[in-house]
Amino acid sequence: MQSQRYIADIIVTCDADDNVYAPGVIDIEEGKIIWVGNLGDEKETGVQTDEIGGLLMPGLVNAHCHTPMTLVRGAGDGLPLERWLTEAMWPREGKMSEEDAYWGMTLGSAEMFRAGVTSSCEMYLFEEALVEAVNSSGARLVMTPGVFKSSYSESRLRNFTDFYNRYHDPEGKITVGIGPHSAYDLGIPACVELAEFARSLDVLFHIHLAETREESAELESQYGKSIVEILSENGILEGRVLAAHCVWVSENDISLLSDSNVSVAHCPVSNMKLGSGIAPIEKMLEKGLTVGLGTDGPASNDTLDLWEEVKVAALLARVNNLDATLITPSKLWEWRLENLQMQLV
Ligand SMILES: [Zn+2]
Repeated sequence: MQSQRYIADIIVTCDADDNVYAPGVIDIEEGKIIWVGNLGDEKETGVQTDEIGGLLMPGLVNAHCHTPMTLVRGAGDGLPLERWLTEAMWPREGKMSEEDAYWGMTLGSAEMFRAGVTSSCEMYLFEEALVEAVNSSGARLVMTPGVFKSSYSESRLRNFTDFYNRYHDPEGKITVGIGPHSAYDLGIPACVELAEFARSLDVLFHIHLAETREESAELESQYGKSIVEILSENGILEGRVLAAHCVWVSENDISLLSDSNVSVAHCPVSNMKLGSGIAPIEKMLEKGLTVGLGTDGPASNDTLDLWEEVKVAALLARVNNLDATLITPSKLWEWRLENLQMQLV
């Protein structure tokens, strides 16, 4: 089998020992890395070699996104979450076709590649179109088909099972999960059913949680508990759960999330743009939660460049706590690794 060799100025491996090779060599065979090391240590000769220079490192993983929203980028700017969703986003997305979603995903995929993001965890309708788009672009996809109150039905679940059977391939490029939008939209009984459904297939349950202070007020006063407590007591946090945002969470909520091994997708730029709040990630990290970084949809961020989240996540935590020692570059680097692991959840 013909292998391909690349020589780069710096190779940052992100392996267990954090090895860095400068300059470095990487050998690839059948799409897989078979060797990496310092220039001069490579064994085989006569391999087809490309001197690419620059920095080589694993691709970034966008842990929470609705990428086809590239098509509605900029709409509803200046509105808080609820008005932004109901007045600006959902009416526009309601007019989108499968073909629109394909092109929106294709555009977003190109933008993510430009920023070094090779994988994204998507919550969206038109899941087939998103798979088709990444099959063309070459990106990796964790596809969690969106479920809303308006679209939740037995036939949606049958379609989902069919979609899962056809595309779920975590060893390859597509991992399938399910994406119930939120407890405030679906209600608790539907979330319980969907969580059981996700567990029955052992797939990722990807949900928006505690993004704004107001969104769960009705449920919280009905149950007399926080939204995280409600989900926890109803068994919704059991299984493989990825919760996006978790801005409005108490110490007790964080402990519950940690006890259930919930992963959190932190989306600081989106939270800032919509004026939602600041997620207490330093407390989550202290409690051992896995925290990944997400752009959220490009309409609540305006870009899919995850490097902005890398920077803003650290700055926001520091200014919020008046503590410049928080979220060091090496901590951010660990996050990136956690992002890589989250992709395999
Ligand atoms: Zn979102």
